[in-house]
Amino acid sequence: MGIIIKDLTKKYGNQLALDKVSFSIKNGEVVGLLGPNGAGKSTLMKSITNAINPDTGDILINDFHVTNSPIETKKMIGFLQENNPLYMEMYVKEYLEFVTNVREVPKTKIDEVIEKVGLTKEKHKKIQQLSKGYKQRVGLAQAIISSPEILILDEPTNGLDPNQILEIRDVIREIGKEKTVILSTHIMQEVEALCSRVILLNKGKVIADQTIEEFRGQYSNLEEAFHTLTQ
Ligand code: ADP
Repeated sequence: MGIIIKDLTKKYGNQLALDKVSFSIKNGEVVGLLGPNGAGKSTLMKSITNAINPDTGDILINDFHVTNSPIETKKMIGFLQENNPLYMEMYVKEYLEFVTNVREVPKTKIDEVIEKVGLTKEKHKKIQQLSKGYKQRVGLAQAIISSPEILILDEPTNGLDPNQILEIRDVIREIGKEKTVILSTHIMQEVEALCSRVILLNKGKVIADQTIEEFRGQYSNLEEAFHTLTQ
């Protein structure tokens, strides 16, 4: 059970994005996915969520194969994509209503998630009127509205100011308490604050997969580990 990834390979033309990536994640783990730009993090996340098809390899979500059982696996996952694509013309509640229709969940969930991600004061605004931090909350709201067991968050605090970063981090910590989370980020404090384990990708390969404590035993901090391992 949990997430099992076996020998995942993906090429875009001649560009190798994932090179025989294998690991597994137990239910309830919060895992930081790190790596330099171009390492393959987004490609891996999109493969797990079935937004793209890998060339070879297998992904199992709670024993369901992502390619063979896309509906079942998509239902188990909430995804906050890189750059958080939203319909800017829609009102917050209107957008979340649209998501409840697509994901076939009751409309009663809308006010519940608005409350959970701290959007109550902004819920009557158009998405384009929101600050970047609040747009990010809308992205998190759509990811959790179907109560998925697994959350995949691709750089959820990218481009936010330091206060917004701390606020979104608190929201993630709260909603991640009972979920399996894979989170990509370039902010090492974020990994230390939220994750128990780190998977480090470089040039499409997993080059380290260990707990934060194991990294602490070997390096003075995560930044040094990242720098040493990915140079
Ligand atoms: P990361 O998320 O770690 O920055 P990506 O998964 O976005 O890495 O990219 C991995 C590699 O695949 C990079 O070399 C990138 O340029 C390439 N790549 C990603 N998406 C595409 C695409 N749609 N077409 C061609 N190359 C791509």
